[in-house]
Amino acid sequence: MFEKILIANRGEIALRIQRACREMGIKTVVVHSEADTEAKYVKLADESVCIGPAASAQSYLNIPAIISAAEVADAEAIHPGYGFLSENADFAEKVEKSGFVFIGPRPETIRLMGDKVSAKEAMKAAGVPCVPGSDGALPEEPKEIIRVARAIGYPVIIKAAGGGGGRGMRVVHTEAALLNAVSMTRSEAQAAFGNPMVYMEKFLENPRHIEFQVLADSHKNVVWLGERDCSMQRRHQKIIEEAPAPNIPRRHITRIGDRCAEACRKIAYRGAGTFEFLYENGEFYFIEMNTRLQVEHPVTEFITGIDLVQQQIRIAAGEKLGLRQRDITLKGHAIECRINAEDPFKFTPAPGRIASYHPPGGPGIRVDSHAYSGYNVSPHYDSMIGKLIAYGDTRDQAIRRMRIALSEMVIEGIKTNIPLHQELLHDHLFIKGGTSIHYLEHKLAARDEAAKGG
Ligand code: ADP
Repeated sequence: MFEKILIANRGEIALRIQRACREMGIKTVVVHSEADTEAKYVKLADESVCIGPAASAQSYLNIPAIISAAEVADAEAIHPGYGFLSENADFAEKVEKSGFVFIGPRPETIRLMGDKVSAKEAMKAAGVPCVPGSDGALPEEPKEIIRVARAIGYPVIIKAAGGGGGRGMRVVHTEAALLNAVSMTRSEAQAAFGNPMVYMEKFLENPRHIEFQVLADSHKNVVWLGERDCSMQRRHQKIIEEAPAPNIPRRHITRIGDRCAEACRKIAYRGAGTFEFLYENGEFYFIEMNTRLQVEHPVTEFITGIDLVQQQIRIAAGEKLGLRQRDITLKGHAIECRINAEDPFKFTPAPGRIASYHPPGGPGIRVDSHAYSGYNVSPHYDSMIGKLIAYGDTRDQAIRRMRIALSEMVIEGIKTNIPLHQELLHDHLFIKGGTSIHYLEHKLAARDEAAKGG
């Protein structure tokens, strides 16, 4: 096992990885920007190295600075967390070429899955159901594009092969709008991702977002650890996640989970990963694979009892998975609310100093946050300041515990989205379970309309 790991991230996930390392007796080196010097988790680390100014481009995305920090601190492995460099194949490659272990998949796999066209092709070949669409990238000839769209049937969605973070997509409802939409998405994709390649998919009108967690070692052992429902989204950003997904027959889930595990074997996947699907009218459609730890991993940890970060570290150290599929049993229900420093109604970011912070507790409650009284939420980074996770024997119990936890949680001095979560945890369709990815936006739009009218 490693003696020392460098954590190339910040905030709650840096703290989460640090805790996993400490439990395993591994020393930690945290790299941080000038804006994060005072953070408590930086002080808690065995070592810390300042790698640059607040702007991410010069610190958390600064590959040479991170690698030289690993050299100076004599770390053996680098954990990238999520976001920042976690899905950057060039980073993974440089880490390995410099003699360190990258805690994640092989660079080739990150590259394969980072290009959505090649990812879809690989998944199709492995028998994973995909959204009907163009066979690979869209051709140049207008006639061909029109033919593909007719064959799929409107509405269609044009997506950038190199896209990510909910950007580089355009829905097309009519043939009249098609060619213009394709060329606009192409130029946006070129500007944003340096890759003009686009592809076309059937646009699903009212799907749910269901994703599957996998773990694979370098000895061809693979397990899948149930699914998560992340349909409560605004602008493609997840807000509430839960596991298991309510109201889907278990045999459908098992069929897809087994396909995901099989696909991992076919592509010789290594590490933790997530297969994302849209689910509509009883069918699953693969959209993309995330080759890293997800923000919402704690809900899976609650229902499986498996520490995903420790598993990532063991796999990276070359250990065999100590789990077989029959060892994976799902028990109870878990819900996660992402706590963001933002206006709960207008969604504008609300950085600033937290005057007073009091986290909730009690049975089945977990708080993953680096915040504390006096902590300064920097305007330079993502507005998520923590995650509140509630577990219960049943979904109903998890909901009740979450409501209590939200009412106990005190964050003063800045605005947060806790009031929005409180409203959603009392929403009758959320309580029923199984709302689509558009539900939250429709609900917010209806609320805005009502506010205008009244
Ligand atoms: P990104 O990597 O940018 O997150 P995804 O391919 O995961 O891109 O898509 C992000 C979101 O866009 C999905 O969660 C879904 O809300 C929407 N979306 C993507 N493809 C489709 C589709 N074919 N039909 C309907 N919605 C889609």
